Amino acid sequence: MTDTMTKPAPINHWLGGKLTPGTSGRSAKVFNPATGEVQGLVDLASTQEIDAAVQAATAAARAWRSVPLSRRAEIMFRFRALLDAGRDDLARILTREHGKVHADALGEIARGIENVDFACGIPNLLKGGYSEGASTGVDVYSIQQPLGVVAGITPFNFPAMVPLWMIANALACGNVFILKPSEKDPSASLFIAELLQQAGLPDGVFTVIHGDKEAVDALLEHPDIAAVSFVGSTPIARYIYRKGTEHGKRVQALGGAKNHMLVLPDADVNMAADAAVSAAYGSAGERCMAISVVLAVGDVGDELVDAIASRLPSLKVGPGSDAANEMGPLISREHRDRVAGYIGSAADQGATVVVDGRAQAFDGNGFFLGVSLLDHVTPDMDAYRDEIFGPVLCVVRVPTYEAGLKLINDNEFGNGTAIFTRDGGAARQFQFDCQVGMVGINVPIPVPVAYYSFGGWKASLFGDTHMYGPDGVKFYTRTKVVTSRWPDPAGSRVDLGFPQNR
Ligand code: NAD
Repeated sequence: MTDTMTKPAPINHWLGGKLTPGTSGRSAKVFNPATGEVQGLVDLASTQEIDAAVQAATAAARAWRSVPLSRRAEIMFRFRALLDAGRDDLARILTREHGKVHADALGEIARGIENVDFACGIPNLLKGGYSEGASTGVDVYSIQQPLGVVAGITPFNFPAMVPLWMIANALACGNVFILKPSEKDPSASLFIAELLQQAGLPDGVFTVIHGDKEAVDALLEHPDIAAVSFVGSTPIARYIYRKGTEHGKRVQALGGAKNHMLVLPDADVNMAADAAVSAAYGSAGERCMAISVVLAVGDVGDELVDAIASRLPSLKVGPGSDAANEMGPLISREHRDRVAGYIGSAADQGATVVVDGRAQAFDGNGFFLGVSLLDHVTPDMDAYRDEIFGPVLCVVRVPTYEAGLKLINDNEFGNGTAIFTRDGGAARQFQFDCQVGMVGINVPIPVPVAYYSFGGWKASLFGDTHMYGPDGVKFYTRTKVVTSRWPDPAGSRVDLGFPQNR
């Protein structure tokens, strides 16, 4: 299929259980990154439209929180089955708007579905504590209640998985959810909305409202939004956290990353090279858990760089719709050019460009860039300091484990890291020492399974709770503790003393 002749399709909001055209008169272009064509025009909500959406969500909240747990679980089970059946269709949407190859899109969806699996167990997850006889004739118990109307603001790089990180737990806990997806690839969220409706979710309980800064600010300032979950870049995450908490909201804001892979001299070099290539260039490096720096310890450097470089010529880069391709384009022309700029700046600043992705030619106007490998990168170079978010892998040579660890711990980000070694003691020491939220031991992309929680440290997360899993349930509920007694009224009397246990 070619998009050359097609007119950009309108991409509308999902309000009250149906597609609803925006009224702001503003829209943004949605590209097919593989062709460079504009294929859609997404509505950008105004402050007034956000206010109307929040009012409608508030009206739906009371009934939804009263729906029994068994029914909420049933809807999640149905949603899971529909997602499972719709994997291929959803993957095609991801490829069309994000650019990632079909197999990678299926991987994203599979990891998203895990979160729905987890939320299917909501009756078990919301069991509170109960202490019979905490005092004479007195029982104490805790209950977890939903927050009300909660919002999610999500990034372009996982248009299905990251919304599912939030939606599954938030809805299962009894909240009403407003999603503001990335305006760069907004259609996956509408597909999800339709499936939720088919699964039996009442209209109005899940809303998709598209927009940019105006919409985000209106959500952050709205008095009827109780909590905001955000995933995106660090400057925006910091802003969301500050503004959201200033307006009295519970906020979890996940930011950017610079993930280091520490390769010790005893590591299996071929295994480490396979892992580095997979984790650096998968999804064109546009993953918050991508490995962007390899720290080669001691004398492993030359052999490791050769092993990585030898794997690169055979990587197939091209449109994600072609099953033969392993890596697709970047999200936009501007981003592609920005990423390419780091290759030039690294060379100017003294790095060795082992493989230069700029040299690879591509047909058409897609936002492609070949894979790049930079060696002898040092911590003062821009390519090391910034999150590049593209298919560029930096190798930093370090003399010792301690020198590598220091770089990891001195880095402003603390999202993910990995160690490659055959020494269990060294790996155990590393997991103890590193100042990072998610650690892989011979695992390059240690995204936690859905029954743990996902979150980095330092500038990779603002807030106290990680996302999804047990932390997700905690984030989307408030605890209430009830102290209860049913005494014989005959023994009742006034007692001004502070209540004590007897
Ligand atoms: P982004 O920060 O540009 O955008 C994220 C969201 O914020 C979008 O919905 C966007 O519309 C909104 N936004 C953008 N600018 C805004 C502004 N000035 N005011 C208010 N809202 C604004 O991020 P992106 O480019 O879509 O995604 C890539 C980034 O996300 C990378 O930094 C990546 O590391 C990060 N990311 C982090 C995680 C994680 O779990 N830590 C996961 C995925 C992506």
